[in-house]
Amino acid sequence: MIDIKSLNMKELTNFILEKGEKRYRAEQLFSWMHSRLARNPGEMSNIPKTVKELLKSEAEYTALETVDIQTSEEDGTKKYLFGLSDGNVIESVWMRYRDWNSVCISSQVGCRMGCRFCASTLDGCIRNLTPSEMLDQVYSIRRESGERISNIVIMGSGEPLDNYDALLKFLEIITDEKGLNIGERHITVSTCGLVPEIRRLAELKKQITLAISLHAPNDGKRRSLMPIANKYSVTDLMEAVKYYYEKTGRRITFEYALARDVNDTPEDAAELSGLLKGLNCHVNLIPVNPVRERALRGSSGRRASDFKTELEKNGINVTIRREMGRDIDGACGQLRRKHLEAVFHV
Ligand code: SAH
Repeated sequence: MIDIKSLNMKELTNFILEKGEKRYRAEQLFSWMHSRLARNPGEMSNIPKTVKELLKSEAEYTALETVDIQTSEEDGTKKYLFGLSDGNVIESVWMRYRDWNSVCISSQVGCRMGCRFCASTLDGCIRNLTPSEMLDQVYSIRRESGERISNIVIMGSGEPLDNYDALLKFLEIITDEKGLNIGERHITVSTCGLVPEIRRLAELKKQITLAISLHAPNDGKRRSLMPIANKYSVTDLMEAVKYYYEKTGRRITFEYALARDVNDTPEDAAELSGLLKGLNCHVNLIPVNPVRERALRGSSGRRASDFKTELEKNGINVTIRREMGRDIDGACGQLRRKHLEAVFHV
């Protein structure tokens, strides 16, 4: 069976031609899947029976099942729990700001990166998502919310650069002008710092924003929070980041989760300033969202604002991110975990 929604325009055209159908059918199909967002081939009114039969016998049509939606009463953030065809569940988030919105999608079921503060990684990585499963998170939310999607962040569960090929296919299809046609500049890929993949992505010169989950100013502290830091040093990571900037001209985003007394001291702020000084970047500070299974606690508001001030003194752009959807298990992997606990009593 072919995963038809994961095919780019060229692959879909080849498939259609190989089956003896006309080329323009591929364009129609692509439009139904990626622009009109059909839930199933039955909705495709101008597609003839022969092609629908072909889809039925030879293709698999990815359509996520909405298992649960939680809406934040504080800020309107919605958290979606989606079921995959193999019974796994994943989560996605829809956030609304004043005049734009953003969908945060998952790239894997679980994650194998092992970051100490993160709920997504507690049971490891179960499997990679396919491009169509990544796409359909956006499509399902587009349909359900009735609103045009302005921004996409690949910042949900999973490490997107650990699922590199599917990520690229996703980017290709979501930016296709015959699909949802989301501009590259409206897409952010967040990574814990896989250095070779950052360099590979840089070579493609895409205009997407790269967000680096840094979380510490030096190797020692970073290793205590993120196992990936044992593989790649902060120096190697910063070189890769600079390379990405050289190739793409895109300002880099750094994510820094503030954990009380762990990485939020005045010394940490000074060291981070030294590391980032002179780089065209933006730092997002976010107090660690406490996860039941994890010992870390978020920094106080005072600590966070002192940290911010120190960076600003050094000319670094920085914002303290609003914690959206806190009342609905906003932190990565928490809703999915709660669901699994309720269903399987794990
Ligand atoms: N694997 C990718 C993307 C998924 S994690 C990455 O590491 O960037 C998305 C972001 O949420 C990362 O910056 C991650 O470090 C952060 N994060 C995970 N758990 C968190 C928590 N409990 N509190 C605050 N930020 C968290």
